[in-house]
Amino acid sequence: MNFYENTLKNMNKAAKIMKLDQETLDTLSYPQKTLMVNLQVRMDSGEMKYFEAYRVQHSELRGPFKGGIRYLPNVDLDEIKALATEMTFKCAVAGIPYGGGKGGVCCNAKEMSKGELERLTRKYVQAVYQVIGPNHDIPAPDMYTTPQIMAWFMDEYSRLVNQYSPGVVTGKPIEVGGSLGRGTATAQGGAYVLEEYMKRHDMKAEGTTVIVQGFGNAGSFAAEILHSMGFTVVGVSDSKGGLYNEKGMDPFCIVKSKKEKGSVTNCDEGKAVGPMEILEKPCDILVLAAMENQVTEANMKNIKAKIILELANGPTIAEADEYLSKQGVVIIPDILANSGGVTVSYFEWLQNQQAYYWPLEEVEVKLKRAIIEALVRILDLQNEHKCTLREAAYISAFDRLDKALKLRGSGAHLRCKVYNK
Ligand code: NAD
Repeated sequence: MNFYENTLKNMNKAAKIMKLDQETLDTLSYPQKTLMVNLQVRMDSGEMKYFEAYRVQHSELRGPFKGGIRYLPNVDLDEIKALATEMTFKCAVAGIPYGGGKGGVCCNAKEMSKGELERLTRKYVQAVYQVIGPNHDIPAPDMYTTPQIMAWFMDEYSRLVNQYSPGVVTGKPIEVGGSLGRGTATAQGGAYVLEEYMKRHDMKAEGTTVIVQGFGNAGSFAAEILHSMGFTVVGVSDSKGGLYNEKGMDPFCIVKSKKEKGSVTNCDEGKAVGPMEILEKPCDILVLAAMENQVTEANMKNIKAKIILELANGPTIAEADEYLSKQGVVIIPDILANSGGVTVSYFEWLQNQQAYYWPLEEVEVKLKRAIIEALVRILDLQNEHKCTLREAAYISAFDRLDKALKLRGSGAHLRCKVYNK
């Protein structure tokens, strides 16, 4: 299933339920701008290599374009378009004044040296700096892009515009304008939503089992936070494989082991299982924190979880979403579940704009308040329309986007394609 088509399908379903103005749906079904570039980077060996890269600016109806950059070998334009579109909806769900964007570079970050990654990042900034900026388009980390990469990004942009510009990118290290709490924000936001949802359904963390797919920024912190809240983490996985123990495992030990040995599979907290097999193991809650298209027609019938928390973007394809929802599985959708990341990115940007930095407690209190408000609005809409949480989340976003479009006028979502190869 093409990720972009899947996103459009989700939008169409919600639009139909809420009887959205067709013009608004059509407008938001295309990104405003698409930039494609080819980056020339000198490798450590002396060889010159070429990397295809993208920046998609989906919508700035509610504020500057906002969204991460991923470094992955097989990134393609449709994937980035889908992610940029989801960002527009996520920011609207979260009620933060941003639109949506996303970037990607086709590269294998795992096999590149620090110097090669720095040169690639600086080349990417040189290619896009004229179309981004603190009040126009603000990138952030995503898969295989780290706070260090964000620091190089900010440095190169500041050099090019001859002005210290920490607000051009979020997810930076604390020392160069990052926010306390940004590293854990995606996982923490997901944990707040899950906790509130469970509280409203008389469910408790104690005795509830969790499997976490993906053990990077979102997944490893999610495993640690949920374990600290009293959940029993029975399974985890990364790209190399899974680890399962029905009695429960200590995610802090798994993090330590992954740092030393490169994968969760080498840890003796549990037994190694296949990377996809882990999704089908018994658990109450399945946290999807790896990447898109993980729960599909091929495995949906074998999912045992009662709740799926989507920390990754687009991990459940539309057919599986429909099937599982009919089976009574509650899916807390990506545009709500992982919106803690962009919410704290927004806080980081606010702190950069004011050159005034907040204590961690302030970040956490504001994040919790914002994400629970977003959840409550979605639960009300779910009740009103008798639909799934995903449909209600898209309705929540469409409502805000539709109002912004009508107030600003139909020229607001200007479409223009830029091909710059
Ligand atoms: P990351 O690069 O830090 O980690 C990705 C993890 O997924 C790694 O542990 C990798 O080994 C694992 N992985 C890759 N393929 C896998 C597979 N087939 N099976 C199991 N594990 C696999 O990336 P991240 O920032 O944690 O992002 C993960 C997901 O969360 C992505 O979909 C991303 O778009 C989404 N997301 C991240 C943030 C954020 O703030 N980092 C915010 C919102 C959404």
